[in-house]
Amino acid sequence: MEIFKRLSDQSHEQVVFFRDHNAGLRAILAIHNTALGPAIGGVVMSEYASEDAAIVDALRLSKSLTYKAACAGVNFGGGYTVVVGDPKRDRTEALFRSLGRFIDSLGGRYIAAEGVGTTVEDMDYMRMETKYVFGIPSSKGGSGDPSPVCAFGVMRGLEACRIFLAGSDSLKGLRVAVQGVGRVGGLLVDMLVSRQAVVTIADTDPEAVARVTSKHPVAVVSPEEIYGVPCDIFSPCATGGVISDQTIGRLRCKVVAGSANNQLADERHGAELHRRGILYAPDYIVNSGGLINVAEEIHGYDSERAMRKTAGIKDVLLAILESARRKAIPAYEAADQFAEERIEKVGKVRRSYLSS
Ligand code: NAD
Repeated sequence: MEIFKRLSDQSHEQVVFFRDHNAGLRAILAIHNTALGPAIGGVVMSEYASEDAAIVDALRLSKSLTYKAACAGVNFGGGYTVVVGDPKRDRTEALFRSLGRFIDSLGGRYIAAEGVGTTVEDMDYMRMETKYVFGIPSSKGGSGDPSPVCAFGVMRGLEACRIFLAGSDSLKGLRVAVQGVGRVGGLLVDMLVSRQAVVTIADTDPEAVARVTSKHPVAVVSPEEIYGVPCDIFSPCATGGVISDQTIGRLRCKVVAGSANNQLADERHGAELHRRGILYAPDYIVNSGGLINVAEEIHGYDSERAMRKTAGIKDVLLAILESARRKAIPAYEAADQFAEERIEKVGKVRRSYLSS
């Protein structure tokens, strides 16, 4: 791979490789943009097919964090760390402490947080070596598991979609198909059911399904069938890349809005949803409650403040949907423009040096 070409293609600032043989650490950090503040972003652990695949993932995720932070109104840029390894087999104290030491050496240019394949306990190990990690357990004064705040933000996003389409934010009678009922999806179903939405769920893990059906009388379909469920909102809350050539023609929804990161397998699938008259609420706005929650640690964590800020996702998303309608462009393009305008404006302010 031509690294510098890759960096300039999407305006990344930096890529750092970390290796510690003794701790079994191989990790790549990508920093996309720090105009708004230090880069913040998750630590993902996954077995990658190749080093190139790991680099590409770090570049992609860090860029999406820049846009997410800009739209969420937090003063951070985008970064992401990918750790190469099997999260079931290779997660050790030594590995995460070693990663913490490397991150510390960057002096605060990047702040790490939990991501797919890592846990708050892993963040706790990193915190032993650096203060530049957020999302530590609430018992230690951190923001803990972001899932409840993320799920609340997704619900606010669904309310915005409802207002945009039907003029009311009542979710009563709204038909929602939730793909993945883990930490976020499960809590989202609780909120939807309490607001009298009509919910269908699917999960590859029968235990996750059972946790929901033991509480709520929801319909259950197989993971393959969920795409074709006739509904108002299809809510991907499992993994990325689910809106693809294989699935897009099967959708029977008016809106796609959920917590999963990078729901579009490719950007052209956003345009294709638009062409088919399906509203795609950009994932990085709908799921930004997790980031808003963790970013609150910079002031000393306060859950009420995190929830208040997360409630604002509804207004931000509505403004973006309205701008998309005015400009006759897909909502994900309007969201990108919204983020780029904020980065541009704040970037100009920060270029003027004022003595402290
Ligand atoms: P999780 O692992 O707790 O839950 C995911 C669920 O999806 C699991 O129950 C899993 O069995 C199920 N699943 C996996 N593949 C599936 C498939 N093909 N069909 C149906 N179900 C499937 O994860 P989570 O923390 O709830 O996160 C869900 C998504 O939201 C992820 O993409 C994550 O990156 C994103 N996200 C989460 C947070 C957060 O605060 N947890 C914040 C931002 C974004």
